[in-house]
Amino acid sequence: MPETHQSEILVAGTGPAGLIAALAFADQGFRVLLAGPEPNDRDERTTALMMPAVRFLQDLHDMTGLVDDAAPLKTMRIADATSRLIRSPFVSFNASEIGEDAFGFNFTNRSLNRQLAHAVGANTSIFRQHGFISKWKPGEQNVAVEFDDGTGTEAKLAVAADGRNSPARAAIEIATRRMDYRQSAFVTDFEHELDHENASTEFHTDTGPFTQVPLPGKRSSLVWMVRPETADELMAMDAAALSRAIEDKMQSMLGKVKAGTARQVYPLSVLLAHSFARKRVALIGEAAHVFPPIGAQGLNLGIRDVGDLISAVKAKPDDPGSADVLAHYNRLRRPDILARTGSVHLLNQSLLSDMLPAQIARRVGLSLLDAFAPLRGLFMREGMHPGSGFQHFKSAAREQIRR
Ligand SMILES: Cc1cc2nc3c(=O)[nH]c(=O)nc-3n(C[C@H](O)[C@H](O)[C@H](O)COP(=O)(O)OP(=O)(O)OC[C@H]3O[C@@H](n4cnc5c(N)ncnc54)[C@H](O)[C@@H]3O)c2cc1C
Repeated sequence: MPETHQSEILVAGTGPAGLIAALAFADQGFRVLLAGPEPNDRDERTTALMMPAVRFLQDLHDMTGLVDDAAPLKTMRIADATSRLIRSPFVSFNASEIGEDAFGFNFTNRSLNRQLAHAVGANTSIFRQHGFISKWKPGEQNVAVEFDDGTGTEAKLAVAADGRNSPARAAIEIATRRMDYRQSAFVTDFEHELDHENASTEFHTDTGPFTQVPLPGKRSSLVWMVRPETADELMAMDAAALSRAIEDKMQSMLGKVKAGTARQVYPLSVLLAHSFARKRVALIGEAAHVFPPIGAQGLNLGIRDVGDLISAVKAKPDDPGSADVLAHYNRLRRPDILARTGSVHLLNQSLLSDMLPAQIARRVGLSLLDAFAPLRGLFMREGMHPGSGFQHFKSAAREQIRR
């Protein structure tokens, strides 16, 4: 019979959000039980993490090896590749404009998951339960769970990082708002003739963004949002045809392209939990919010969930799952999660919509961003760290208007 652990904090889920939460709580001196299967080592995606998220991870764990395998993101561009009547300008953002060397780094998920799993394995405050939670029993003083091997445990606080179909969320009866886009993300990587100069380009197309993100050397990763039937066609294409298709979409910006062999498809949707904590369970990562991969937001938001949950718990560390702590966490997360989910959804809808007002709004927004440097600064800073953009905006705008 496997051993049963009693822990102060139970973390459910071994995706990146769960691994990071386990490390963060252990770093605060809590005993953590992390439950879930072995981390996914067949994930062919890459994750662009902005500098605040990278720094958060660096504070938890030596990231040297991880950063060596990643490419810095120094420039981010948006290009209109739609066939719409109203088209938007090409907008370019440079990290140097806001005094940063890079906006962040693009990591392969394999490497990110491997390094996080290694850090968890080396941490003596984290106990592992290598299996799924089969039953949740939230209570007044503790939350109890059963594992699929028949054992169980109790904890003061459970951190639910158990993904978009979160069984924990269902057990504490938090409802969600969901929307299916009939859109899929086709994911692969490719080599190219020209140097990417650490720039990422998001081409806006009629079916959603086609986003190239730099990897080390003359290589980039690709997230191509398409109709599900197009994703099936891309999966079935031979290497030469796929290479040509990518080069065409890139308008040969990076010269000749050679597509990699690894290809995956992810169905896309939007999901927003009505609240983010209840009954000694706090939702983080995709258990709380899911949206399409536009502007590299998902895990960045998940890492901010962890940061805010730690802040809420620090105010009352003797009972980390109390109603006060959970209410505090809810208040901290609501504005950030609602703003990100809403803006990504709106941008995606404006691309998919044939309606003229949506196209005009997108064009006006991007034209303003192109022409007005303070607004560009606001957009870049807010993209990296919510709230920080507005602090700089007023003085920069005043200065530009004065000039
Ligand atoms: C194509 C694509 C590209 C993306 N690119 C970016 C990007 O560049 N930047 C960015 O910030 N974000 C990006 N994202 C979003 C990012 O990938 C997600 O936010 C992130 O993977 C979510 O991690 P998670 O740990 O919350 O969920 P998951 O990775 O889904 O992990 C959930 C975990 O819970 C476990 N689990 C489920 N049920 C149970 C149970 N009963 N008991 C125990 N464990 C359980 C699962 O096994 C799994 O390990 C992208 C997403 C997509 C689709």
